[in-house]
This record gives sequence, C-alpha cells and structure tokens, in this order.
Amino acid sequence: MNKSYKITILPGDGIGKEVTQEGQKVLQKIAQLYKHEFQFAKAIIGHTAIEQTGNPLPEETLKQLKKSDAILFGAVGHPKYDNDPNAKVRPEQGLLKMRKELGLYANLRPIKLFDELLGASSIKPEVLKGSDILFFRELTGDVYFGERGRRDEGATAFDTMIYSRYEVERIARKAFVAAQGRRKKLMSVDKANVLESSRLWRETVQEIAKEFPEVEVEHTFVDSAAMLLIKNPRHFDVVLTGNLFGDILTDEASQIAGSMGMLASASVGDTVGLYEPIHGSAHDITGKGIANPLASILSAALLLDISFNLKKESQSVIQAVERTLQAGFRTVDIADSKTSQAMILNTEAMGNKVLEYLAIIN
Ligand code: NAD
Repeated sequence: MNKSYKITILPGDGIGKEVTQEGQKVLQKIAQLYKHEFQFAKAIIGHTAIEQTGNPLPEETLKQLKKSDAILFGAVGHPKYDNDPNAKVRPEQGLLKMRKELGLYANLRPIKLFDELLGASSIKPEVLKGSDILFFRELTGDVYFGERGRRDEGATAFDTMIYSRYEVERIARKAFVAAQGRRKKLMSVDKANVLESSRLWRETVQEIAKEFPEVEVEHTFVDSAAMLLIKNPRHFDVVLTGNLFGDILTDEASQIAGSMGMLASASVGDTVGLYEPIHGSAHDITGKGIANPLASILSAALLLDISFNLKKESQSVIQAVERTLQAGFRTVDIADSKTSQAMILNTEAMGNKVLEYLAIIN
C-alpha cells in the first residue's frame, strides 16, 4: 500500500453537490487502481452551511479543512442572495474567508482545449486550435479585500484596490516557476497606465523576472489582454494577474474551452490545496441532473498532480476524459447539432463513462 492521504469533500451548493460526487468517484477509482489510501471526510460551506448553522464557513468546517492534505470543492451560491444585495450573511463570505484562512493566495486555471470540443466554442476553430494557457490569478488581495464603504448617507460607495509587494512577489515566483516548465513565456497583466497598485505590481514583477532570465516576460494592460485573448489565444502561455482582472479574464478564457463545465482550478498557498471547477452553483440547472461533471473530475486530476505529486494518476484521469470525448459522449452544454440524443449523458452517466475509460487505460 502507498502513502495515505486525507481528502475533504466540500460540495457547497447547487450543482456543486452534483458534480463533486463525480469528482470523488474518480478519486476513489484512482485509489483502487493504483493502491493508494484516500481517506474522505465531508464538510459544509455556503448556503447549505448558513441553513444548518447560520454561518457560511462554520468553525467545524475550517478545522476539518486544516487537517486535510487536499480539498475537492464544488461551488457556493443561492438565488436568494443574488437578488438581495443587502443580505448580511452571504454564501460567498464563506469562500472568501476559507481562501484567507487557508492562505490560498494563488489560483491556477489551466485553459486547455480538447480537440474534440473545437466546435463547441463560439470562437473560430482555426483561431483556437492549439491554445494552452495557464492563468495565475492572485486570490487574497485587491478590491476584494481592501477597505470599502459608503459615504454621503449611502449615495457614494467605494472599494479600495490594494496590493503589497510581498503579495505580488510570492505569486509571481510561482508563475515564473511554472513558465520554466512550459513554453517559457509569461504575460503579466495590469493597468499600470492608470492605477498605482498596478504600478507596484509591474515594478515587483520586473524585479522577480531577474531571477528567471530564461523566461520571456511581457507586460500587458488588462484591456489589451482581454482583446488579445479572443483575437489570438495561442499567443498566451502563462498569464500572471491580480484578483479582479483574473476573475474577469479567466471567465472570458473559459469560452476558449467551450464551456464553463470543462474548466478546473487549483488554489494553493503554502499549505493545503483547494481544487474546484471555475463555474458557480448554476441555479438554472440545479437538480436537473444535467450539469457537466468534467470540470470537477479535471479538478480531481489537478489535486492528484499538485497536492500529491501523483503525475501518472493525474494524467490517466485527463486521458480518460479525453477518451470519453473522443468516443463522442457529451453532456448537454458541450453537445452540438451533430451530437445524437443517445450520446448526450446526464451528470452521473458522464462520471461513470470516465470511470470506465480509467479502468481501460490501466
Ligand atoms: P455559474 O457558473 O453558476 O453559471 C453560468 C452559466 O453556465 C449557467 O447558465 C450555468 O447553467 C452554466 N454552467 C455552469 N457550470 C456548468 C456545468 N458544470 N455544466 C453545465 N452548465 C454549466 O454562474 P452564475 O450563474 O453567474 O452564478 C450562479 C451562482 O453561483 C451565484 O450565486 C454565484 O454567486 C455563484 N458562483 C459561485 C462561484 C464559486 O463558488 N466559486 C463562482 C461563480 C459563481
């Protein structure tokens, strides 16, 4: 028997619950096939936790997360809060607090296009083919955590965009190391022509770049980066950016992959890693059993790779997803007019197909 690992499953809300179940099944299959011992625990967060305890991130959950070697997370959110901007307790507070408490300052989002899904994107296949981007989005600074408030009796509101040098340094180093292992190109995205926090960002990245002379660095304004992503996605290798710009650019880039349902992400710092699809709780399809579980399954692959350094196991999950797509199986979000009804699977059936291919590959 190999080493034993503790994994906490944190389904959250909405389709988070549905897709995480499939991600966990894949991890269980990997444990069985490769003779690893994965010990699973479950915890609550978000709306589900508010309903049960009044707190979007209960102490018990936080304790459990801190004891884990890795976390597979779904999503948080509920329509009740989306339509009530004045709600004092909100599901996403649980998410922001969790990132802060676990020191998860770097969000990695690989945008890799499976050839089989070239037609599922709204961007032309010839522009897309071969795109392979790795985003590093800073996660614990920026306007999300700066001072905010209202004045003039509520008629004026402000949020503060704030970064400290050390926050930029630590994520920049991680991004440069990743670029070294890829095509050795790094684009740092900011708005240094206007924002002081961006000027600090750029200065700091320029300093860190000196430690990595073999990596070619490009500094690009966020507006221009947003345009270039659609115009020529193959231009990008590693992209390093702040919390707000990263939030927006990675959703834009998700369209390169065809669907939000295909993209995984990892949030890492210096301790436990958190792995999650980039999509939210998708109220519009919750409970219908049609959510695409592949982003959660690919998040499980990232978990195996980054937190446990199980490269072979991680690759076999990615290959199993690839084989499933090559065989023509689709969930409804990635189906096109050529997909026959018989090949459109629900969430659970898609998860099971990936398990079948995992067993065949091994
Ligand atoms: P969303 O990502 O939940 O959904 C956007 C669109 O993509 C929807 O039409 C949805 O049906 C579709 N989609 C998303 N994931 C899919 C999947 N796996 N398979 C098939 N289709 C999928 O974003 P939203 O609608 O803007 O937000 C819904 C809720 O999720 C909100 O409450 C929001 O606050 C929350 N949210 C949470 C997170 C998170 O927990 N990390 C991230 C984003 C949004």
